Amino acid sequence: MPNNLIELNNISYAYHNLHSETPALQDLSFGVKEGEFVAIVGPSGCGKSTLLSLIAGLLKPEAGTITINNPDGSLHYPKVGLMLQRDHLFEWRTVYKNVILGLEINHLLTPHHLDYVHRLLQDYDLEQFKDKRPSELSGGMKQRAALIRTLALEPELLLLDEPFSALDYQTRLMVSADICRLIRKSGKTVILITHDLSEAISLSDRVLVLSKRPARVKEEVPIRLTLPDASPLAARHAPEFQGYFSYIWEVLTNDQ
Ligand code: ADP
Repeated sequence: MPNNLIELNNISYAYHNLHSETPALQDLSFGVKEGEFVAIVGPSGCGKSTLLSLIAGLLKPEAGTITINNPDGSLHYPKVGLMLQRDHLFEWRTVYKNVILGLEINHLLTPHHLDYVHRLLQDYDLEQFKDKRPSELSGGMKQRAALIRTLALEPELLLLDEPFSALDYQTRLMVSADICRLIRKSGKTVILITHDLSEAISLSDRVLVLSKRPARVKEEVPIRLTLPDASPLAARHAPEFQGYFSYIWEVLTNDQ
């Protein structure tokens, strides 16, 4: 088994203002292996987005450590790509100008990166829409464009914060299956936050269940499904699916 690419050890974090403090995470520990797809579920307001901000380096833990074990032994923090609930595409830019935005901001408009974007646009069937405006795309196409914008910077670790929750249920099923197939193909290490247990079970290798705020890891549930094919839609019909659902629901709602 590969080592953990990233390890969180006894992390605590609280928000402070003049009059009070809100502890968001307490003594929280887990690791994620290279190439692994981990889903995190937990009650609303328990600290999931705070956790993602800490991993992304946008916040610093008040206690505990985040350690990195790069497969090549180097010490650099993995390049992080963040995908949020809304696609945040800018209407005044074309789809192409949107997907190269991160490269532009980071002064990375090199032939290597632009070739990669070109390949992604082809692979994700957006090539012929690259001169359109975001409002001319379907919800699923917009999420694909947002994913290309994230992948263009070649992140080593993808952080997905409820990336499908703005879509209606039917679109959400199709788009989450589609996007996750593309992400799996890329072999990236992924941490997905979702409040949808079915999504967590069907897409991930392991589900972490967080407690109420301040969040700690209540339970880690490895997911092993017997599947006729590897699609997340097929996963929902696997014989083990309902058992995982009931178990994770029980852990989530049990107040211990
Ligand atoms: P989740 O993503 O699980 O819904 P969050 O990480 O967004 O939870 O928030 C965890 C807790 O921290 C919540 O109670 C929220 O109100 C509080 N919180 C989040 N951001 C801030 C902030 N900037 N200032 C103060 N409290 C915050």
